[in-house]
Amino acid sequence: MPAPLSITFLGGLGEIGRNCAAIECEGRVVLIDCGLMFPDDDMLGVDLVLPDFSWLRGRADAIDGVILTHGHEDHVGALPYFLREFSAPLYGSELTLGLARGRIEEAGLLSSTSLNVVRDGERRRIGPFDCEFLPVTHSVPHGFATALHTPQGTILHTGDFKLDLTPVDGRLTDLSRVGGMSSTDGIRLLLSDSTNAEEHGHADSERSVGAVLYSLFHENEGRRIITTCFASHIHRIQQIAESAVAFGRVIAPLGRSMRRNITMAREMGVLDLPASSLIDIEEVDSFQPGQVCVVSTGSQGEPMSALALLGGNENRWLKVGPEDTVILSSHPIPGNEGAVSRVIDNLVRLGAEVVHSGIADVHASGHAKSEDLKLFLSVARPEWFVPVHGEYRHLVAHSRLAMKMGVASDRAVLAEDGDQLVLDDEGLRMRGRVPAEYVYVHGTVGDVSSGTLGERRILGQEGVVTAIVCVDLSAATLVAGPEVATRGWVEREESAEIVAAVADRVRRNLTAALGDGERNRSALERVVRKSAGSAVSELTRRRPMIVPVVIEA
Ligand SMILES: [Zn+2]
Ligand SMILES: [Zn+2]
Repeated sequence: MPAPLSITFLGGLGEIGRNCAAIECEGRVVLIDCGLMFPDDDMLGVDLVLPDFSWLRGRADAIDGVILTHGHEDHVGALPYFLREFSAPLYGSELTLGLARGRIEEAGLLSSTSLNVVRDGERRRIGPFDCEFLPVTHSVPHGFATALHTPQGTILHTGDFKLDLTPVDGRLTDLSRVGGMSSTDGIRLLLSDSTNAEEHGHADSERSVGAVLYSLFHENEGRRIITTCFASHIHRIQQIAESAVAFGRVIAPLGRSMRRNITMAREMGVLDLPASSLIDIEEVDSFQPGQVCVVSTGSQGEPMSALALLGGNENRWLKVGPEDTVILSSHPIPGNEGAVSRVIDNLVRLGAEVVHSGIADVHASGHAKSEDLKLFLSVARPEWFVPVHGEYRHLVAHSRLAMKMGVASDRAVLAEDGDQLVLDDEGLRMRGRVPAEYVYVHGTVGDVSSGTLGERRILGQEGVVTAIVCVDLSAATLVAGPEVATRGWVEREESAEIVAAVADRVRRNLTAALGDGERNRSALERVVRKSAGSAVSELTRRRPMIVPVVIEA
C-alpha cells in the first residue's frame, strides 16, 4: 500500500496572508510558501503576523525544502523568521527568489541559505516528492503552480493565479499541462486560490490596464505624471513605462523597493526599460513636467511610503502641485482603504489631479474570479478539492463552485489554519489540529501575545490608573499611600477630586482587610485593584486598566 501523506495548513486558510502549508510523506516535509500577514488596525503596535511554526519545531530535521510559488510578501515574507530557526533549501523562479532575497539578506541569513532557481515546466525531486513547476499568470511575474507527484497521486497547488489570456509577457497559465495531467493519471487533489471566489465573471487581462494608462498619458500631455503601484508588479511597471516612453517621458523610480525591483527586473530581462529613459529622482527638476513620469511606492497608503510622504509634502526632490496628475494603479487591499483615502485627500489638497481605481480602470486583479475558477476546475477535474488562500467566506464560495463543477460534496473539503488532512488509499480526511495561532511580531519575534494586545487595547481606549500603597504586614498598618496616578483616563482639571475619592476607597478597604488579618501580598493587591476599579467605574463609568502595587515596609 502506498504511503499516506498529510497536508498541514499553518496559515492562509481563513485570512489573506501568512500562506504556509506543509506536505509530509514518510516523515519528510516540504513547505509550500512561507508568507506574512500585515496587521489589522486592532493589532496595536504589531508590525507583522507570521504563521505558527510550532508544529514544525518537532520536525526541524525533516524539512527538505520550501517551494515558493511567487514573490509576494504573503508567500515569502516570513522566510527571514523561518530561516532563523530552520534550515531548508528554497525553490522558486529566479524573480521569486530575487524578491525574497532582499529580506533574507537584511536578516543576515543569505550565506546560510540555499536558493535554487527552477524553470517553467521543470521537474525536480524535493525530498520525497517529484515536483513539477507550471507557469501561472498573477500580479507578479513568474509565479508557479506546483504539481507534486506522490505515491498517493498528483497534488496540484495553484499558488496565486489568474487566467490572463493576453499576459504582458505572453507567459500563459499552463492549462494544457493541467489538462494533460487530468486526462492521464488524473489529479487526486487540487488546492486552489480562493481570493476572488466571490467575484462574478472573469478577471480582466493585465493588458486592459495598459490601454487605460495609455489614454491617461494622452489626456495628461504637458502635465507631470506620478504613478504608483506595487513594486513587485513588474508588468504594471512595464506598461507604465511603455506609455511614458510613447509620450516622450523619462521614468524616475521613487521609493527604495521600487528602485531595487526595477534594477533587478531589468537585470533579469523581465522588465524592458531602456537606460536612456531612466533617471534618478534627484534629476527630476531638470525636466519639464510633461517630460517626466515618476513611478512610486506607496499604493496601499503605507504611512512612511514615498507616496504618503509626497502627500505630506515631505519629499526632498519632488513637490506635488497643481501641475501634477497622480495615478494610483492599484486597489486598496481590505484594511487599507482608510490609509489610501487619506493619501488621496492630501494629494488633492496640494492641488493635484488624482486618478484611482474608483474612477478609472487603472487596476486589474491578479486573482482568478468565479468563472475563471470554474474553468480551471473543469480542466483539472480533481478527485478531491480543498480551497486555499482566502478568508473563510472565500473558501466557502470556492468550495461551492467546485461542487457546481462536479466535485462531490463530501470531496470538497473545507479546512482552516491548523487543520491537518491525510490522504491515503481511502481518500482525503481530517486527521486533527496543530497549533496555528497568529504569531505577532513587534520589533523582534515572539514579542506580543494576544493578552498583551488586549492590554494595549484597554490602554488605548481607557487609559491607566495605578494605585500604590506601602504596608507594614507585622503591624497590619498602612504606612504610606495610596498614591493614585493616572494616564489617559480623565482630564487633569477634573482628576483631583476623583483621584482623591479613589484613594479614599482604597484606603478604607485595605485597612479593613488588614484588620481582618489578611497578610498575603497578592491578596492585598487584589483588594487594591477591586476597590480602585469599583470606585473608578462608579465615578466615571469607564474601565481603565488598574495597576495595583503593594510594597512591604
Ligand atoms: Zn500573490
Ligand atoms: Zn497571495
